[in-house]
Amino acid sequence: MMLTAGGMAPTIDALKSFESAYLNQIGSEAMIWTGRAATGLYAVYRLAASLRPEIDRPEVIVPAIMCATAANTALLAGVLPRFVDVDPLTGLMDPAMIPERLTERTVAIVAIHLYGQTMALDSLRQLCDERGILLIEDHTQALGGVLPDGRPVGSAGDASVCSFNRTKIIDVGGGALTLRRAEWLEPLQAIFEAEPLPPTPAPERLAELSLSYRNMHHGLSALLRMGEIMPEEIAPLFLQVRPAYNPLYLRPAPEDGTALAAAWSGLDAALQRRRRRAMAYAEQLEGGPWHLLNGWQDSGVCWRYTLLLDHPRQQRAFSEAVRGDGFHVSNLYWPPHHFFRPQDTCPQADAFARRVVNLWVDEGISDDYPVPCAASLKKHARLLA
Ligand SMILES: *Cc1c(COP(=O)(O)O)cnc(C)c1O
Repeated sequence: MMLTAGGMAPTIDALKSFESAYLNQIGSEAMIWTGRAATGLYAVYRLAASLRPEIDRPEVIVPAIMCATAANTALLAGVLPRFVDVDPLTGLMDPAMIPERLTERTVAIVAIHLYGQTMALDSLRQLCDERGILLIEDHTQALGGVLPDGRPVGSAGDASVCSFNRTKIIDVGGGALTLRRAEWLEPLQAIFEAEPLPPTPAPERLAELSLSYRNMHHGLSALLRMGEIMPEEIAPLFLQVRPAYNPLYLRPAPEDGTALAAAWSGLDAALQRRRRRAMAYAEQLEGGPWHLLNGWQDSGVCWRYTLLLDHPRQQRAFSEAVRGDGFHVSNLYWPPHHFFRPQDTCPQADAFARRVVNLWVDEGISDDYPVPCAASLKKHARLLA
């Protein structure tokens, strides 16, 4: 199906064969193409809440290292996000920490495969089955990869969401939501019939709003990182202005699927190029004052090549020095509970966020890029002493 301004519509011809092959591969019965992963998350949160109508203030469990979209869309859907601490060496949600956040209001758990690393989902699958709640996989950063047990990503969840927007593994625009059971389409259709997608704002307004969000988020994270202000002070302010950004999240599927179909057919080759670049970083960076996240070797997907600095104090100066040599560096992500719910303390996520450095493996760089980039990191490693 396609999520359109007028509700759910049949899948367009260009995407039909991908849809059925993909659903078959992950053992799911329905697929809904959207404009953003955010829209898919919103839809599946609404679905999870509607499947448990007796719960009046539903909650969803999300990891404390992720982009804030999964929390923003939860609030938009009327669901409270609860944050679970992460494994200090991968940044993936630590299943052992889930019981601290699980309540009788929990309607879903979102497992996010981070930077291309995939999470083992057996224990979460069992937990969700026991409690009759949904397991949602976000595999945007591990598209085309495998879980630790060798099955494809997306095959363990009751639902999966993926983004094909800028900076993602396929970046031609759009998103997708899959549902294990076709019977869940009906309640979802009812939701979007009663409340159709709002009109998409004009492109200039969207661009300005999304830039504003990015600036605000960077500005506030910098204050938190520096310790100039406490999360307890930021969160009420953030939650007050947050609704101004609601027009960003709900977007209909692209009308033309040809770019997506073409990109999807090239996925294996694209993943291979990403692995080649990641391998070059891994070889060059071995033995430095950092811990290398090499989980992409098991999943088969590298989204960004990621390392954790041994000495977090100089993360900012180090990243700037490498940027100064002309290389891309990011430090994704600042823990979202600081903005949404500081009382869900997650000390491992706080420590992880101060150590993380992400390097590019995208199509935007050449195969010759990783070696000089790694040389720049090694040159500036003395900043980390
Ligand atoms: C980028 C991203 C999203 C949001 O995707 P959009 O299509 O921009 O809504 C969601 N989840 C993860 C893991 C992402 O990296």
